[in-house]
Amino acid sequence: MQGSLTQWFGLEGRVALVTGAGRGLGAGYASALAAAGAFVVCVGRRIDSLEKTVAQIHRDGGRATAFPADVTRPALMREIIDRVVKDYGSLDILVNNAGTEIAKGIQEVAEKDYDTIMGTNLKGLYFTAQAAANHMIRRRRGKIINIGSLASQIGIAGSTVYSASKGGVLQFTRALAVELAPYNIQVNAIGPGYFRTEMTEPFFQDPEHRQWIEQRIPMGRVGTAADLAATVVFLAGPGADYITGQIIYVDGGWLAS
Ligand code: NDP
Repeated sequence: MQGSLTQWFGLEGRVALVTGAGRGLGAGYASALAAAGAFVVCVGRRIDSLEKTVAQIHRDGGRATAFPADVTRPALMREIIDRVVKDYGSLDILVNNAGTEIAKGIQEVAEKDYDTIMGTNLKGLYFTAQAAANHMIRRRRGKIINIGSLASQIGIAGSTVYSASKGGVLQFTRALAVELAPYNIQVNAIGPGYFRTEMTEPFFQDPEHRQWIEQRIPMGRVGTAADLAATVVFLAGPGADYITGQIIYVDGGWLAS
């Protein structure tokens, strides 16, 4: 068998859309995909942070643009995805990353909290995938990468709604993978362990919680966005064309222990 790194991992000529690309792990996915050659459409609610990600990609020699949008609005996401296809010729890769957490015990969770978490992590992800699939089915090609979590697999106290949403992400990934397999569209998920971002900052601010996290990770350190870069590039690339319906946990060994 002959091959080259570009043949397996190169994303030259591909158009990728990353939700929640303005900060945190999403900004890392966007940069990684751009470094592999993709043109990256960065989506999120805050244009100032999206522009920072785009500027960083440009400084690194990559290509990217920003579209402000709230993923909880399916009609708007569909409009944006249609526009991306019209303006840039295709949508080859979707990284469904936008997510949120409001950590509370079940007695404290209000309906509003439930709707915010589910609306972003599951409904937003679902309808963004639906809009992307609409184009990918026609082209008989595409990669959808959903962002799960350790909470796709294990129960985390104080995170019941988040865990329900991320368990849903995993099952959605599997069902969609089966449904879209005949169209040569691969649907997979990444399950990050603990990474320090705006979303997890409250956990790290609490010394007890922080110590629990750090002691629980067999590798002895919290992850960084760079630890996720190769996984997203791999799943988005031609080398993963026969992988679908899977979740790759990037967790420093947490789930193995
Ligand atoms: P951050 O809070 O740092 O970033 C969340 C991103 O999502 C931001 O860019 C935010 O942008 C965007 N976002 C949130 N709500 C919406 C919305 N309604 N519409 C559009 N964009 C939205 O979180 P992380 O980077 O930590 O998390 C990213 C993903 O990774 C999430 O799905 C999270 O569940 C998952 N994850 C994170 C882990 C971690 O340890 N950090 C562990 C496991 C999974 P803006 O506010 O501008 O809209």
